[in-house]
Amino acid sequence: EYALEATDLRKTYAGSKNAPPKEALKGVDLRVRRGSIFGLLGPNGAGKSTFINIFAGLVNKTSGTAKTWGIDIDRDSRAARAAIGVVPQEINMDVFFTPYETLELMAGFYGVPKEERRTDELLEAVGLSDKRDAYVRQLSGGMKRRLLVAKAMVHTPPVLVLDEPTAGVDIELRRQLWAYVRELHARGTTIVLTTHYLEEAQELCDEIAIIDQGEVIACEPKETLLKRM
Ligand code: ADP
Ligand code: ADP
Repeated sequence: EYALEATDLRKTYAGSKNAPPKEALKGVDLRVRRGSIFGLLGPNGAGKSTFINIFAGLVNKTSGTAKTWGIDIDRDSRAARAAIGVVPQEINMDVFFTPYETLELMAGFYGVPKEERRTDELLEAVGLSDKRDAYVRQLSGGMKRRLLVAKAMVHTPPVLVLDEPTAGVDIELRRQLWAYVRELHARGTTIVLTTHYLEEAQELCDEIAIIDQGEVIACEPKETLLKRM
């Protein structure tokens, strides 16, 4: 069994009056090993967000199968969604809550019982313990991104997916975010991230798939892939 498994996965976005239909995924076959840090690398518009949004339950696939931690999303979408945490690209949080409240609300949303919540432990894992009771609006951009990571982890999913986690952030913050991702991986979480930076995939991932125009054109361990480039 895999962390994520896609078989002949296809997505065509319906067109509109002014836009023709868009085939964003053209039959993707992809398997993400449990325990890996997996990079989905490709240029803008390649289909990376579409791929992960299908697993996140945010986009309906057109055809094919998708399994999260062995659970077919068509068979049990709730259980499949519970097995994954997704860190979106854009920062969307209520700025008038504190980090602690933000995580508690999310845990409530996921139905995590009070006694099973690990809110303080999560804040520590992403280096926000000392901002526990500050307002989100007072946090720096990097802190907000780290809080987003914690928010995706409140229900302790075995798989954490990050959509372009460091797009538009400076090199120092990028390295800092990488360190937190490694920390979560070391604690046992399978990591999948999308990126259009080769450097990011190279630095962080042990397996890399390259996607272009809705098709996976390579998928292999980092070492063998880089030797061919
Ligand atoms: P679907 O119903 O096929 O799953 P969505 O609900 O995801 O499509 O998208 C709703 C609408 O948002 C689309 O019809 C499209 O016009 C618009 N849209 C959102 N993102 C994009 C994008 N990146 N490129 C083009 N159109 C987009
Ligand atoms: P990436 O994440 O690699 O940048 P996306 O999955 O966002 O790629 O987009 C893949 C293709 O699908 C692009 O051509 C994009 O414009 C199109 N697309 C994405 N979302 C929508 C949408 N909701 N409606 C229509 N087209 C979309």
